[in-house]
Amino acid sequence: MADRIRTTCPYCGVGCGVIAEKSADGWVVRGDPEHPANYGRLCSKGTALGDTLGLETRLLYPVVDGRRTDWDSAITEAAGRIRAVTDLHGPDSFAFYLSGQLLTEDYYAANKLAKGYLGTANVDTNSRLCMASTVAGHRRAFGADTVPGCYDDLEQADLVVLVGSNLAWCHPVLFQRLKKAREQRATQVVVIDPRRTDSCDIADLHLALAPGSDVALFNGLLAHCEAAGVLDFAFIDAHTNGFTETLAAARADSVSATGLDRTLLTRFFDLFATTQKVVTVFSQGVNQSSAGTDKVNAIINVHLATGRIGHAGMGPFSVTGQPNAMGGREVGGLANQLAAHMGFDPTSIDRVRRFWDAPKMAKKEGLKAVDLFRAMDAGKIKAVWIMATNPAVSLPETDLVRRALAKCPVVIVSDCVIDSDTLRFAHIKLPAHGWGEKSGTVTNSERTISRQLPFLPPAGEAKPDWWALARVAQALGHGDAFGWRGPEAIFREYAALTGFENGGSRDLDLSISQINDYDRFSPFQWGAKRFFGDGRFFTADSRAVLVPVNHRPPKESPTVTYPLRLNTGRYRDHWHTLTRTALAPRLSGHRDQALADIHPADAEKLGIIDGALVTVKSRLGRMVVRARLTAEQAPGHVFVPMHWNDCHAAQGLVGRLLPGHTDPQSGQPESKHAAVSVTPY
Ligand code: SF4
Repeated sequence: MADRIRTTCPYCGVGCGVIAEKSADGWVVRGDPEHPANYGRLCSKGTALGDTLGLETRLLYPVVDGRRTDWDSAITEAAGRIRAVTDLHGPDSFAFYLSGQLLTEDYYAANKLAKGYLGTANVDTNSRLCMASTVAGHRRAFGADTVPGCYDDLEQADLVVLVGSNLAWCHPVLFQRLKKAREQRATQVVVIDPRRTDSCDIADLHLALAPGSDVALFNGLLAHCEAAGVLDFAFIDAHTNGFTETLAAARADSVSATGLDRTLLTRFFDLFATTQKVVTVFSQGVNQSSAGTDKVNAIINVHLATGRIGHAGMGPFSVTGQPNAMGGREVGGLANQLAAHMGFDPTSIDRVRRFWDAPKMAKKEGLKAVDLFRAMDAGKIKAVWIMATNPAVSLPETDLVRRALAKCPVVIVSDCVIDSDTLRFAHIKLPAHGWGEKSGTVTNSERTISRQLPFLPPAGEAKPDWWALARVAQALGHGDAFGWRGPEAIFREYAALTGFENGGSRDLDLSISQINDYDRFSPFQWGAKRFFGDGRFFTADSRAVLVPVNHRPPKESPTVTYPLRLNTGRYRDHWHTLTRTALAPRLSGHRDQALADIHPADAEKLGIIDGALVTVKSRLGRMVVRARLTAEQAPGHVFVPMHWNDCHAAQGLVGRLLPGHTDPQSGQPESKHAAVSVTPY
């Protein structure tokens, strides 16, 4: 193993390049000055990566039914149990639940096995909780899940609008880039978020809109742009459909749903209307909503109608939460997609079937995350293989998820840690490579593909996830199709699929990329730096679609019993369910426990003092947590982070409180709205 290697950070969707170097005290991680995502910058999490490489918490060998075993036995057991279930109950009795932490090659292998060889599209992922609404919105507007722009656009814009995005905490290096650009060119920044977050530190304007009212806001903006005479009719006429209906829908909505002061609204609308170079960055505050897809389209509508897309410093821009949510999207890691950005239309199904020479091609979309675990609870999913994720903590209606896992006859979990809430339900535990051991590719939020390269020996008997998948596929009798010798063979097969019968008709074609040296290629952005500048989209008639949308409030409203709105999200220095960041003590210096942020006026009414334990309760469950009184929180709202769980600190579990309401288009759960009460403990 080399003492110095260029690889990629395993945390957020910014996808920073890092250099890991061996020192006398262990591995030191610093930013890669040549990586186009970060140019040497890192955030606190990336900087502390070297502290998280110990073996203390690693799963070091396969376990079947509570007993240590060898890989051959574990593979035989996994394949045998999958076969027994699917022979008896059909292919849709099996499901994969994957993760944006997986490498693209792992994701591809799982999708090929399920969708091509087992005959089920029950392959969903924790990315469903992250950006599924953006995928659905992109596909409705552009005809493909295409991210139009790039990070440079944030530095070239004159106005950056952050919607439902605490960029300062959740995508810190992008925030650093934006902050620097603002210092150099006086970029105007508007933050649209019910909370006052650290992102507001650089904001010229903060719109603390009513939760879930983004569609009303952007419809109001579209109507204002029409009144201000800044719509781009040449672009609309030449390159879009649906404008008339969309404008009518926008005019019919009322900005009063936003609860915002008219003066503030007018300032924002005027700023947007008079600034040509605008980037609208959106994230989980938009996506994690029962109207998430409509919100995405409301944002895109304004950019299409003003022609502000596809050129430097302008466009709608989604930032993903996870390091490889994008790679997962690209290889069909969602239950309603096939590999290479194809959908479940008959032509795509047949194309992928022929490319894979698949004996049992899935013919219809599979179950999305929330429905998948509900089907498990109902006894319809009888075998599940969970990889690199912890749904017993991270999904809403967590008690149902745990009940479903407890009753599922076959639970296989691949993970690099020895214990998690989900691993406790596993009949078969498969030790996976962790960061620093993995080899493969990831795609970040701007479509840049980078390598993750190994610099550590595997922990114990840990193996790559793609290897375990291929071995199980071979044990199921599909040796030829899964005979890859390494991740490079998988990547090249996937790249060939993206180009198969493409001819420029689909956005994603890696077959034209010149990747001569898989182990050393420089990060590259697939497709163009920007899409759609030429006015050509990936719909049948090459025209973008403006989608008429109207405001729909969140599914749950406060009641007498549950008078507050619960919002959930990330802390700056922690990640997901703490399995890695809890290993670096310095990352707990910022926040070492979950806190319920509540406005002082609410706290006074409820008899709550700062730092006291409180019970947060919804109709589904309760948790006990300390209160933090802060005016950053709007009155009537409470914020609790998503990270803590039953394995760590026993603080309780916020997922237990969250209902499983989902967006009808994307299936993404509404993780930012639940009606709750907060009382002294
Ligand atoms: Fe890692 Fe994201 Fe921080 Fe970059 S911004 S170092 S990708 S966590």
